[in-house]
Amino acid sequence: MLQKTHTLAGLLTAECVVAYYHQPFLTWEAGAALLLGCLAGPMADIDKKGSTMAKVFLPLSWALQLLRVKHRTVTHSLLFILALFAILSPLPDLFLWTAVLSYASHAFIDMFNDQGVALLWPWNKKIGFLPKFLAVDTGSFAEGVIRLALGAAVIVYPFVGGGLGIG
Ligand SMILES: [Zn+2]
Repeated sequence: MLQKTHTLAGLLTAECVVAYYHQPFLTWEAGAALLLGCLAGPMADIDKKGSTMAKVFLPLSWALQLLRVKHRTVTHSLLFILALFAILSPLPDLFLWTAVLSYASHAFIDMFNDQGVALLWPWNKKIGFLPKFLAVDTGSFAEGVIRLALGAAVIVYPFVGGGLGIG
């Protein structure tokens, strides 16, 4: 899916984690967590040459290209998500869960795509939720609808789900 769709999914995931920890939305901790969610959401596409994340983290993207890592494999896998959890585990819970769950939202969203992801890498079988005729093509009208729904949820959730934490 497109970077902007993943950014919104990462942000929405971060909002849920912030609300789960009863962290008022208008604090710097919540702000940092939401920013982290925006970054972690599209991060897995660092394995795709020319993607925004590959450009932002160019040395990492070069390393992946040198290792001949294919798109939607290692970085979209359960194993990688677990490794990320282990590496980030010294972080406070709010940031740890925001980073890991927002990162994981990426593979989840990509599984609605007809190409699927190698979720069980090193087994290279690509796994998806939907049969091909129902699957959501990258940049398609259906993805636009999903993005709109995510965007609406991002705006509404802090009011209904978390409370804005004011007063
Ligand atoms: Zn992806």
